[in-house]
Amino acid sequence: MRAAKENDGDERGIHISGGEGLRLYHQIQELAEELLQKALTHERGKPDTIHLSIEKVKENPVFVPPISIKNHEANTVEGGREVACQLLRNIGISENSIQSALQHMKKPKSIRGAALIDEVSGLRLDQRGDKGVRVSRMDWDVESLRFMQKSDSSLVHQRAIEASALANKVAFYPEVVAELCWSDDPGYTTGYVTGQGIYHRIPCLKESGNASGGRVFFIRHDVQNIEDLIHRLERQPVLIGWEKKAFETMNKRVEV
Ligand code: AMP
Repeated sequence: MRAAKENDGDERGIHISGGEGLRLYHQIQELAEELLQKALTHERGKPDTIHLSIEKVKENPVFVPPISIKNHEANTVEGGREVACQLLRNIGISENSIQSALQHMKKPKSIRGAALIDEVSGLRLDQRGDKGVRVSRMDWDVESLRFMQKSDSSLVHQRAIEASALANKVAFYPEVVAELCWSDDPGYTTGYVTGQGIYHRIPCLKESGNASGGRVFFIRHDVQNIEDLIHRLERQPVLIGWEKKAFETMNKRVEV
């Protein structure tokens, strides 16, 4: 789903909201209603256009076990951003690249996708300009999500569920070293950094009322074929969780 507001001189309009999912045939109506509701009630305003696209996926989805979650604390934007920057440094992202990501995130006009930047030089690697790369065709496996919710109470909110599905799909690709995200919703100030198999949830990454935000994927310096990575981010069907058999074994192990 993609919802936008008209804007003179920009045929795509101003991004209001977007959303994606990967469901079985009988769940499509429910998903379409969820996405429509999101488009119609978004904090960024009433859209002039809503595009809802539904496509049959021919490939079997890959199951991607979720990365672990760590919650951090911060009471000020300065503090929250310092936590994020320090985590990125620890992961090995260069100072140039961190600064380039922060510049991208602070732009007043948010884009509907992510910016892919080199982990060393900080240069933008995708050629998508204001559109960015929109990760799609991912969702939580329902049973795996229920299992995860037992140990992480914040995973009940729709926003947290969607953000973690996206972050897990992105973290699955070895070419992506880390991700930085905070929302462009003026009222939502929590964001995250992922890297080295951990989803770091960080409060206070921007002031309440601020409508800028975005996503940056830090890409390994030696990646040759960026278009191939973009293709997988956009098109490869991924379910976050464990395939039924693996799930049953793991669940038994936990219950014992
Ligand atoms: P949100 O967390 O939905 O408020 O999104 C924050 C920002 O992340 C948006 O402004 C986009 O730049 C980016 N974004 C949202 N959804 C996606 C997606 N599916 N793929 C890539 N980037 C996204």
